[in-house]
Amino acid sequence: LDSGNQDVPLPRYVRVNTLRTTVAKAVKEFQRTKIVRKGTETQTLWKYGGLIDDWRSMAPDTFYQDPHLPELLVFPPSTDFHLDAQYKSGSIVLQDKASCFPAFILAPPPGAHCIDGCAAPGNKTSHLCAKLRNQGHITAFDLDARRLETLKTMTTRAGCRVIEAVHGSFLDADPARFPQVTHILLDPSCSGSGIVARLDALVDTQLAENPDEATVAANDLDRLLKLAEFQQQCVLHAMKFASVQFISYSTCSIHAKENEQVVAAILAAQNDFELAPRDRVLPTWPHRGEVGHGLSADNANKVVRAAPDDGTNGFFVALFVRKVIDVNAPP
Ligand code: SAM
Repeated sequence: LDSGNQDVPLPRYVRVNTLRTTVAKAVKEFQRTKIVRKGTETQTLWKYGGLIDDWRSMAPDTFYQDPHLPELLVFPPSTDFHLDAQYKSGSIVLQDKASCFPAFILAPPPGAHCIDGCAAPGNKTSHLCAKLRNQGHITAFDLDARRLETLKTMTTRAGCRVIEAVHGSFLDADPARFPQVTHILLDPSCSGSGIVARLDALVDTQLAENPDEATVAANDLDRLLKLAEFQQQCVLHAMKFASVQFISYSTCSIHAKENEQVVAAILAAQNDFELAPRDRVLPTWPHRGEVGHGLSADNANKVVRAAPDDGTNGFFVALFVRKVIDVNAPP
């Protein structure tokens, strides 16, 4: 499996944790902050460049606001945040751009009950919590106890108060026990073939983009097909929850087998959910799904892909929405 170019210098992204601060306050704080390069503090302060159109045109010593995700700030590649006060206090989260798409697209309103089915180490869980403004509830499942501990540490540092971490398989979660859940985020184990950022950068991101064991093991076609089967099962299980209206499905894979083909199989396997319209799914993001893997051009246009050319890791997101009941349809 091709994992792409390991040397692409992607920007460093900082998600402002709106549970602890605001974008305006975080920007002001950075403007008072000295730049750190390779663990050494310089005397230069960060300059703020406003909204950036093209991530390739970043000026030196300057950070920007992302044009697609308002809570995201864009810094030059290899910026070091280890000493940063806002990082230490949990006011910012180091999270790659595309990895912010699922919670942003799912967008549960404050008060909603949510499930994060494959949650650890929890960057998307904490992002979901920010969307909820700490009102509502999130049940965060993960099979891996160690990663779930990281989730607890990270989400506590981020000021999340409505997360219940559950050690166990999402596939064993009984839908009858979650009658209020309306939004489910699914980011299951995948081949990780979209990850191109350097490993030291991955470690910096609080393990968030660090491949789990299943990801590391995904080195042959058989393994890829097994992952696709698991990914499909996760989404079909989520569709059994009676009140669920929205399900986001994401991978950090570039393989259509884990992306468009999984979505096509799910659409074919049930009648209750369809893909949300493009205007609900990052409408200004130009990179959409690939046609020809079982998805029509219309459906491919409703899902999102990301690649290093977009300034972020390879990624895929689809949003399923429960179909509106047609009262005039024949019985
Ligand atoms: N969403 C996470 C984040 O943004 O920080 C990353 C999730 S990672 C891609 C996939 C996770 O799924 C791993 O932590 C793995 O342990 C977990 N996992 C695998 N099988 C699972 C299952 N049946 N139920 C719950 N979690 C599972």
